[in-house]
Amino acid sequence: MKVNILFPINAEAFTYIVPERLETRIRKGVRVLAPFRRGRKVGIVQNTENVAQGAEPKQLTLKPIEEVLDDEPLISENLLNLIQWAGQYYLSTSGMALKNAVPSGIFEGRKSGRSRIVYDNEIKPMKVYDLTDEQEKALSEISKARSGAFLLHGVTGSGKTEVYLRAIEALGGGEAIVLVPEIALTAQIIDRFRSRFHEKAAFFHSGLSPGERISQWWKIRNGEVRVALGVRSAVFAPFRNLAMIIIDEEHEASYKQFEGLRYSARDTALARAKIEGVKIVLGSATPSMESYYHAKKGKLAYLELSHRIEQKPMPYVEIIDMTKEEKESLSYSRKLLSVLRKNLSDGHQSLIMLNRRGYSPFLMCTDCGYTYKCPACSITLTYHKDTKTLKCHYCDSHLVPQEICPHCKGIKIKYIGLGTQRIEEELHDLIPDLSLKRMDRDTTRRKLSHYRIVKEMEEKKIDVLLGTQMIAKGHDFPDVTVAAVVFADVALNLPDFRSSERTFQLFTQLAGRAGRGKAPGKVYIQTYEPDHYVFEFVRNHDYSGFYKKEIELRRELSYPPFSKIVRLIFSFRNKEDGAKTVKSISAKIKKIIPRDSKSDIEMLGPSSAPIEKIRNYWRWHLVLKGTNSKALRQSAMHIINAVQDMKGMRIDVDVDPISLM
Ligand code: ADP
Ligand code: ZN
Repeated sequence: MKVNILFPINAEAFTYIVPERLETRIRKGVRVLAPFRRGRKVGIVQNTENVAQGAEPKQLTLKPIEEVLDDEPLISENLLNLIQWAGQYYLSTSGMALKNAVPSGIFEGRKSGRSRIVYDNEIKPMKVYDLTDEQEKALSEISKARSGAFLLHGVTGSGKTEVYLRAIEALGGGEAIVLVPEIALTAQIIDRFRSRFHEKAAFFHSGLSPGERISQWWKIRNGEVRVALGVRSAVFAPFRNLAMIIIDEEHEASYKQFEGLRYSARDTALARAKIEGVKIVLGSATPSMESYYHAKKGKLAYLELSHRIEQKPMPYVEIIDMTKEEKESLSYSRKLLSVLRKNLSDGHQSLIMLNRRGYSPFLMCTDCGYTYKCPACSITLTYHKDTKTLKCHYCDSHLVPQEICPHCKGIKIKYIGLGTQRIEEELHDLIPDLSLKRMDRDTTRRKLSHYRIVKEMEEKKIDVLLGTQMIAKGHDFPDVTVAAVVFADVALNLPDFRSSERTFQLFTQLAGRAGRGKAPGKVYIQTYEPDHYVFEFVRNHDYSGFYKKEIELRRELSYPPFSKIVRLIFSFRNKEDGAKTVKSISAKIKKIIPRDSKSDIEMLGPSSAPIEKIRNYWRWHLVLKGTNSKALRQSAMHIINAVQDMKGMRIDVDVDPISLM
């Protein structure tokens, strides 16, 4: 008897012989110990039939496995199929997908760790509401179904979370996965799930230690919990009686992994729902262009929550034209400051967003124009005042700036532009009475630090929470009545086909934080480009208007959802070698992609990537576009196979990229 064994490494399965004494114990999904190279490795039985046509490796004589480690499959057949799907769809390998799907400790025989995470000890019982008519309708549609995909489009504050909770309760004993975008969002939602499901919920987020991760994983695998709430990798939660998947804020970019297996947790969840034959709910106030398009086409069943709870009004949104507005400081208009002062005296809270961390995006010598660049990346360095260093936001390298210009020895070095640290400092000087907190990647590095900030906000120890996009996402603070954007222009004109969509979503989400309690909300957006079309739609809370305009642009340029994209990134240590190799790749590719009329595959490049160098690697990219996903991925695979042996080159493959930088 032969079996295919999958290891958590970047490879397909390997074939082994099963010794007779182990034959009765071999089943798909059990762990085995097998000789591998000069040592031994733990892997998973992927297949017991049809092994001959599997990836029979270069081994000439097959080796026998040594031990079977489980009596029952550790990983269900459905999950194994999903892992295989992910490896294939993302033009990676099943082994790579396995590595992402299962915590490494499971293969290392590591013991599970006791939870060291201390959330609030008591779980506050939370009110259980009577549903609104719209909530009721959405819930009944979801509950009726056994399978199928839904788009739950509910404006901010319309009570989507309550629908999720009820839909899970309605499953009876069935198990549910709930995906949430990132740690900033999980704090409040964790409380709500704990108050409803108590010990029956497991949580996956980036703050877990390896031991904690394993213990959560086993709880799910052993059926001790019925809900797994988590970020990205929770899509692979090892439930055996899965009945539903929920994806909150489905439009969020953080569902996409940016390295290794570049998978989208949303799309992988859709695949899993299909494989398992269960239902899936995508929720958002600002659905991605793809999802809304698919809802229009009938591929997703559309459910709408068009009103806020208790008929609360949507917030008032004002665009502040910074070319005309008198400024009281570098970053703040008079208007915004007076609003913040008034809000303080009214005892309400405010949010202020600037989507750029650090103090200022660069230091410049005003004599010669010198700016500091990262030695490893083609990126200017951001000045961080708290640490007095210049940091690269791509590779985290940092250096200490000198008093004099390294180029002309001049002394007129200036801070140019704004970051969250700077607007915090300014606001502190302008309104010293404010109790301020900053939330960005720098203040939330420590475990649970964001959770604490959220708690302080809830307890009203903070008047103004200031930060990057982290503050715009998901929070439900009833006393926030003002939300503001300091410098909207940061996001407006990035050279990326998704930049308008992201901007619209971000500002709409931020606006959605204001006025969720008794007092109505007001939103102020400062910009130097007030006529940009996106603002009109944000101001009027007009999702469908935005969609109509944007979808036409996508159609004209045949971007997703009208096409699929695969991006190949070629990186080299040495720029000249890279340029030479890319030239020869270019010639090779022309022969691979036939110009026949049947294939509609369009090829852009290879050309220098917009960010030419990251972490000392020089980068070129090739963007393939086509309407037939299968044909497109096949062509990409042909190209990869033809060029992958080129010397000194690394290839990264990005299927459905969300950024082309
Ligand atoms: P969304 O996720 O759509 O932005 P939430 O689920 O956070 O909205 O709900 C907004 C607020 O309304 C929350 O504080 C929630 O507890 C409350 N809420 C939800 N449903 C109801 C209801 N049917 N009646 C009263 N309050 C509700
Ligand atoms: Zn760098």
